[in-house]
Amino acid sequence: MNPGGAPQDGREGERPFPAGLARKLAKLGIERRFDLLLHLPLRYEDETRITPIRDCRPGESCQVEARVVSAAVEQRPRRELLARLRDGSGELCLRLLHFYPAQRAQLKPGTWLRLFGEPRAGFRGLEMVHPRLRVVTPGEPLPAGLTPVYPATAGLSQGMLARLIGRALEELPMGDTLPEVLLARLGLPGFAESLRALHAPAPGSGAAQMGDAWRRMKFDELLAQCLSLRRAWAARRARSAPALVPGALTARLIEMLPFRLTAAQQRVWEEIARELAIPHPMQRLLQGDVGSGKTVIAAAAMLRAAENGWQAALMAPTELLAEQHYRSLAGWVEPLGLAIAWLSGGRGRRQRRAPLEELASGRCLLAVGTHALIEDAVTFRRLGLAIVDEQHRFGVRQRLALRGKGESPHLLMMSATPIPRTLAMSHYADLDVSVIDELPPGRSPVLTKLVSEARRSEVIDAIRTACRAGGQAYWVCPLVEESEALDVQAAIESHARLALELGDLRIGLVHGRMNAADKSAVMSAFAAGEVDILVATTVIEVGVDVPNASVMVIEHAERFGLAQLHQLRGRIGRGTQRSVCVLLYRAPLSEAARSRLKAIYETGDGFEIAARDLELRGPGEVIGARQSGVPVLRFADLAADGDLVEAARAAAEELLAHEPAAAQAHLDRWLGGRAQWLST
Ligand code: ADP
Ligand code: MG
Repeated sequence: MNPGGAPQDGREGERPFPAGLARKLAKLGIERRFDLLLHLPLRYEDETRITPIRDCRPGESCQVEARVVSAAVEQRPRRELLARLRDGSGELCLRLLHFYPAQRAQLKPGTWLRLFGEPRAGFRGLEMVHPRLRVVTPGEPLPAGLTPVYPATAGLSQGMLARLIGRALEELPMGDTLPEVLLARLGLPGFAESLRALHAPAPGSGAAQMGDAWRRMKFDELLAQCLSLRRAWAARRARSAPALVPGALTARLIEMLPFRLTAAQQRVWEEIARELAIPHPMQRLLQGDVGSGKTVIAAAAMLRAAENGWQAALMAPTELLAEQHYRSLAGWVEPLGLAIAWLSGGRGRRQRRAPLEELASGRCLLAVGTHALIEDAVTFRRLGLAIVDEQHRFGVRQRLALRGKGESPHLLMMSATPIPRTLAMSHYADLDVSVIDELPPGRSPVLTKLVSEARRSEVIDAIRTACRAGGQAYWVCPLVEESEALDVQAAIESHARLALELGDLRIGLVHGRMNAADKSAVMSAFAAGEVDILVATTVIEVGVDVPNASVMVIEHAERFGLAQLHQLRGRIGRGTQRSVCVLLYRAPLSEAARSRLKAIYETGDGFEIAARDLELRGPGEVIGARQSGVPVLRFADLAADGDLVEAARAAAEELLAHEPAAAQAHLDRWLGGRAQWLST
């Protein structure tokens, strides 16, 4: 056990860089001397051998040592410096398109050069264009190990970086932050040993040694991320929050429901109820695939707050969804004698005055709304529980703002876009996770079809047949990047065209630019079966629940993201009849679009889709907020290094509980002054 192994940079580590150098290093994310050590090579070049020119193969990088025979600046077809070089075995042409006069002067006949680059078969025989090159005296010793190639920036050459890093390796203390038992258990090499293996590979060192050293660095990086998030979790957990204990209302709600909770809902509700009863803030993510029944869990939690005399607020990302929640909740809680305040951006100032007053005075205990809930004008007398639905649709600041409306309320985030396990364990490590892994009974799986735009008329015929038989359909319109106005335009055009093609059916239209009352009127008509086909933009992406709708056509499906397609498709398959989702696409498909459509066609499992999404887009995009406050991963790859993520999470818990000094040392080393976490 060696957490005391001087992980703090010694005095040497604190010596600042000269200003000019500091500016350049900062571009590479290097602020402290210690960061030099964590600036790891991108790849390696083998300069341990000289290849005779005769053995050079076009396209294969190699090192050549040769003598200049002649050199001249040519003007045609373009200005360049050409030199003929010769070793004992053959001739090579060196071409420099950009050069300094000093370089021109260097290339005197008889001078020996060492070149590293990729030869190719050129007009003048074998040639190298802009190889790395250096004047040598014949017989100068070769490096013993591979040469690292670092991420570099203008004004900082490989050579300069290598020298700075080399000095750091000699001067800075590199004691291990991790207990030996832990390293032994995980089969990881020591920190100093790993750094040396990566920055200064030993002669003959190959993939195996490097692989272990890389694993150690990735593990350390993941561990630092987990530690910082878990510590933030612990700091918030240390505050006090109302202990919400079982009362009469929740029990009656569950009795009153027209259905029985699934086993998964029951389990999750117990997890949440147990935590709400503890006088410290809950910080929980509730995951459950589209349609798994999260709303009723939210309702139960809100009632738990109410039956203890505390307020609860539920925030949803769209007006449609907020309104639908308002209706479902009202249906459940009004019979129990409670009122709900509804706040959304679409409601005028006058309509808002009453709910605002009721929340501020504490007369009203329950609130549902859009981001209107987090506006300054909204105050709660005693908010005990904040719930964010479809949390991935909000920015970090918005999610946290709702919590900020109370002293330190319990927090429940809900998401129907399942977060891959590795992501949940790393980026969401400051939340505990509950999962509803079961759909309510009686749902029939959705049949997904990929249909080329060229066969649109067949799709129209099929919809006509389905609707005449009493079915209802969604027609989702193409998403136009970054422009709601264009989205709306496309939806209006599709609506007009469908009205012509399907003249005998009732066709409704809903999009983001309609006012709240109009949107709500169309949705109600659709829900009541008075509209056969609902043409919509992605405003219906989340939450909308009309069980009789069993057909969905997604126009230009190739333009949608994977998570979005999954969410949209989740609008159907909610009733007992067989549902069909038609993905209309226009050829030719890009590689990425083809992968997305293939994934959505092949699987309906949200977790599987989330894992594919992570592979296709990477964690930054999946989380949706690069500025999430979570330390960015430079080395570890959540899709490829899943086992390390689990190990790091477990190690973080262990260190925080039993070796706080080691945990602190590790955080200092990896995050230094940048140690940051989600603010409260
Ligand atoms: P999501 O998890 O996507 O938010 P919802 O909460 O909107 O799902 O639930 C989808 C539908 O399933 C709603 O109509 C809801 O009333 C219904 N539902 C929820 N739980 C059950 C259950 N245990 N049995 C039957 N239907 C349920
Ligand atoms: Mg929902």
